[in-house]
Amino acid sequence: MVATRTVPFFNYPDVFTSDEAELLSIIREVGRRGAYIMQRDLADFEHELAEYVGAKYVIGMANATDALHFAVRAAGIGPGDEVIFASHTMVATPAAAHFAGATPVPVECGPDHLIDPDAVAAAVTPRTRAIMPTQLNGRTADMRRLQSIADACGAVIIEDSAQALGSRFMGQAAGTFGLAGCISFYPAKTLGCLGDGGCLITNDETIDRQVRLLRDHGRNEEGEVVTWGLNSRLDNLQAAILRHKLSRYDDDIARRRELARRYDQLLGNVPQLTLPPAPDADARHFDVFQNYEIEAEDRDGLRRYLQDRGVGTLLPWGGKAVHQFAALDCNGRLPYTEQLFTKLLMLPMNTSLADADVEYVAEQVTAYYESAAFIERSAA
Ligand SMILES: *Cc1c(COP(=O)(O)O)cnc(C)c1O
Repeated sequence: MVATRTVPFFNYPDVFTSDEAELLSIIREVGRRGAYIMQRDLADFEHELAEYVGAKYVIGMANATDALHFAVRAAGIGPGDEVIFASHTMVATPAAAHFAGATPVPVECGPDHLIDPDAVAAAVTPRTRAIMPTQLNGRTADMRRLQSIADACGAVIIEDSAQALGSRFMGQAAGTFGLAGCISFYPAKTLGCLGDGGCLITNDETIDRQVRLLRDHGRNEEGEVVTWGLNSRLDNLQAAILRHKLSRYDDDIARRRELARRYDQLLGNVPQLTLPPAPDADARHFDVFQNYEIEAEDRDGLRRYLQDRGVGTLLPWGGKAVHQFAALDCNGRLPYTEQLFTKLLMLPMNTSLADADVEYVAEQVTAYYESAAFIERSAA
């Protein structure tokens, strides 16, 4: 089988090469200033990102995992407390609760693959202290319903918005609803840097102050150690690169939405598939399409067929929801999520894709369900 085209799931070199001259000049300029740690590029980026999402404070950090963990700690959550999260998430979400000493409680997601508010309400106990919705695949959950559940039980919301920079629910940006949110700048994220990076978003002055101390050895602006802290700073060089990428981020999102619209047009009538909501399907949601996660009949057969034809796909989280990793002791039965994980597949979705790439992927997907291989398998 000779593929006529190769469409990798994600094109890592493109994060650099798509803008190589500009990035090299940023690296040169920052390097010549010797401005590596906690310099003005970081402060400028924090202010610009806060403005972009409409929040009071943004704190650049080494990664989003630390941002979530520090948010849970700064919220005063610890041993004996329960934190509700959707099992369809990265393990970083419950790890934040775990390392604060609290108990992560996994719940089901709904048909849009985001946390199911009914499942959250059913999981509330007198120990519930936080709800951690994951704004998955660049879509923001129904935050009105989650907030009313949180208010009713006196819990706070901490958003895992690692995948959702610029995503909005009823006009408000992901990461700004709860006590705190996080964003990841991992290279494959919608706003990716050349390595690890992340930030915490908050409108709460106390959280801002505490997390700023936690990320820099407990030192205040005068360099005085005023509490215990760690080191989780966003590199100034990465911040300078991110500042530049943020300036054209809206174009990147527009492109992702265009690609999603194209997938929707080309695959919307394939009966063996369930697609994510189209970009304009619901006026309350503005999705940024970090991923294009579909449900596919005979998913593994489709995946092999695509691989043979040069199309890279990915199983979310390696193919398991958090509660399915036995070592984490976060078990229980979540039948909807377990059934979903036999069907989930992520198709290529990133700004390095040409229209012809998406057309090729859609053609191959369609061809699979018309192929003798599929027809035989589904008859068996
Ligand atoms: C990427 C991601 C994280 C972790 O982000 P890092 O910056 O790599 O720590 C957490 N949660 C979700 C949902 C993610 O997609």
